[in-house]
Amino acid sequence: MEEEASILVIDDERGIREGCRRGLTPLGYRVEVADTAAKGLRKLREDSFDLVLLDLMMPGMSGMEALGRIQEIDADIVVVIITGYATVEAAVKTIKKGAYDFISKPFTADDLILVVNQGLEHRRLSLETKRLQTIEEEAKELARAKVELEKLDAMKSRFMLTVAHELRAPIAAIQGYLGLILDGYADDDEQEMIENAHRRCGELLDMIHDLLLLAHMKEKTTEVKTRAVSVAQVLEETAGLLRTQAEQKGLTFEVEVAGQPEMLADEEHLRQLWTNLISNGIKYTPRGGRVVASLHQRDSQIVGSVSDTGVGIAADDIPRIFDEFYRTAKAKEMEEHGTGLGLPIVREIVETYGGTIDVESEPGQGSTFTFTLPQSAESGKETLQGGKVVGNSEGAG
Ligand code: ADP
Repeated sequence: MEEEASILVIDDERGIREGCRRGLTPLGYRVEVADTAAKGLRKLREDSFDLVLLDLMMPGMSGMEALGRIQEIDADIVVVIITGYATVEAAVKTIKKGAYDFISKPFTADDLILVVNQGLEHRRLSLETKRLQTIEEEAKELARAKVELEKLDAMKSRFMLTVAHELRAPIAAIQGYLGLILDGYADDDEQEMIENAHRRCGELLDMIHDLLLLAHMKEKTTEVKTRAVSVAQVLEETAGLLRTQAEQKGLTFEVEVAGQPEMLADEEHLRQLWTNLISNGIKYTPRGGRVVASLHQRDSQIVGSVSDTGVGIAADDIPRIFDEFYRTAKAKEMEEHGTGLGLPIVREIVETYGGTIDVESEPGQGSTFTFTLPQSAESGKETLQGGKVVGNSEGAG
């Protein structure tokens, strides 16, 4: 059932107000009246109306001024001006200012009903047009979201294909070694084959570990529990674990820390960040080279970097090294084991805290990876897209 239209008559002449009420009420319209513009505006603020019959010549606020105020309250309201013979010219001006029509005094009930019905029809049509425009915009928005989702879906499928492909290689190799041993073809190489199969199992586990970590980091709905962590201490501990690896490779490995920077974070994230960057430095730097991990604080930012004198990264490769599974030709040549997931994990960690990561590299000369992290977890919130970084007041301080 359609809702009854509501009409407000603003006129200082009682005869006009009552005439309008008598003429329009029998049509099923709700009619309210006000004898000044100020009272009319008050009613408009308190209640909603479809149409206003507005006298142009009233003591106090004029109809012309009231028209502007009415439009401020409700831009869609239909205003019909009631005008005397002497004010027709002014009434025409109100049309230019957005009034729908005018009716000249004296008028008959039929004149009134005609203009009011036309006005209400006009309002119905303009509201309907607006509704359709909104639906159209929503449909466009939905179409855009659908395209976005399809893209994400395609990315996910591509990602799954790559994962399957990457997992197949070590499993096929392990099966190959075991097959040779089982079929009795291993002879004197049996021990070596078992060692190879064992090594490939380790690589497989590394990849699964990194995949799980990355999936966990990408799950933005989970809360990141933070407490005050000494970034310097995490760096020293990580460096301690990786030092032997660097020395075995004949590399100089140095750690430079300025101050005792602390930040609100999940300690595991910081450990992973340093581990991935330092172990890359060690992996991609040939014997005799140098790897330096450094840390300092700039304003309320933690700035960490890992520099090496290694193989470097070609300019074309730089935008791709943070993509899952991407490995440069140079890295593959070095026959160093890698999953191609270390830097994507680094990027996810840095983004979780609202930080940044940059690379500078010169092929054949070396690379420097620099990250910044805001000391307060608060700063990372906007970039979490649904996830939450929550501080733990017990640990903080
Ligand atoms: P990976 O497990 O292969 O090391 P990452 O995601 O950590 O995977 O790195 C991606 C690629 O970026 C590496 O395969 C390598 O090609 C390049 N890369 C990363 N760090 C360095 C570095 N310090 N020097 C040269 N190349 C690097």
